[in-house]
Amino acid sequence: MAGLYIHIPFCRKACHYCNFHFSTQLKNIQPLVDAICQEIASESLTFQHPLQTIYFGGGSPSLLSNKQLSQIFEAIQQHFNLSEIQEITLEANPEDMNLEALTYWKSLGIERLSVGIQSLNNSELQWMNRSHTAEQAIKSLELAKDIGFQNFSLDLIYGSEKKSLLQWQHELDWVLSVGVNHLSCYALTIEENTPFGKWAKSNQLIAPPDEHAEMQFHYLGQWAAKNHWEHYEISNLSKPGHQAIHNSNYWAGKPYLGIGPSAHSYFGSSRRWNVSNNAMYISGIQIGAPNFTEEILSQNDIVNEFLLTQLRLNKGVNIQQINILYPGFEEFKRPIIEKLKKKSQIIEEGGYWSIPSAARFLSDAITVELMIDED
Ligand code: SF4
Repeated sequence: MAGLYIHIPFCRKACHYCNFHFSTQLKNIQPLVDAICQEIASESLTFQHPLQTIYFGGGSPSLLSNKQLSQIFEAIQQHFNLSEIQEITLEANPEDMNLEALTYWKSLGIERLSVGIQSLNNSELQWMNRSHTAEQAIKSLELAKDIGFQNFSLDLIYGSEKKSLLQWQHELDWVLSVGVNHLSCYALTIEENTPFGKWAKSNQLIAPPDEHAEMQFHYLGQWAAKNHWEHYEISNLSKPGHQAIHNSNYWAGKPYLGIGPSAHSYFGSSRRWNVSNNAMYISGIQIGAPNFTEEILSQNDIVNEFLLTQLRLNKGVNIQQINILYPGFEEFKRPIIEKLKKKSQIIEEGGYWSIPSAARFLSDAITVELMIDED
């Protein structure tokens, strides 16, 4: 089983923290949609795994017109067998969630919305240059529920200088009151080539100390435990039985095909990523010479990738499985495992190594200790 990811690289405004690939030149959407449909057709000739999930991400796929979205849907239906599909997700921003669009999305078979809420504080939303207000976000969810959507994931950002612990607690309480079943929570990171990155460089923005985000991350874990949510991946939480299938398949190492500029694909022994430039992407597709970079994964890459994904998960790394991927791994890394266990940064239980919740905020540094150096 496999996943299909479609990247729609357009946004109404550029959020000040965002370093994804997108453009705000909305007049160029149609040629890109045409190229995406062409890429779907050509990739379907070689990518022959049955699809289990489809994910429209971006950018802001919710700003596509009904006609453009159905054009992409028709291309997918024409070229892939969808009889085993279990989840179709569309990333939606609150300002695009009107009666007409929501009704149309539902009619296409989209049953899961990943909504970019980010904050319920209007001054924080404005500071981040989001295109919506907190009131709009709340109303958009109510409207979607009235139309019959039941499956929502909300994106929230924590750890900014504008978000106090009290505000974060209030936002998480609100999540319980709106009846959603999935959350993706990201610590605000200041990326170099973003407005926030530039402000930080010129001292117009001083990031709060790490402890600020760390405290909010710990609160998130406590909130999940208290309310019987599963904090199943470092940034993802769900009510039992509502883990995201598409993303869980990434972490389980299943293959996926990425369509659109900057989209990544994974085929087990290789990965590929499309050019992060809309004009170059379109021209490559038009002349039958797609612009992408491909990497054949070495055994070390495969092991490191396995560690990176599995240590983000609650259940952790299956020790037997990593010994199969890299014979002798356990013996080789045993001294480091013992050191991490003493520091309460790794738990060994039931044949798995996992990072306990109190140390999860440090998971990147812990994972690096276990990775295999390139030869
Ligand atoms: S955060 Fe989302 S809406 Fe904002 S610029 Fe990035 S992709 Fe677009």
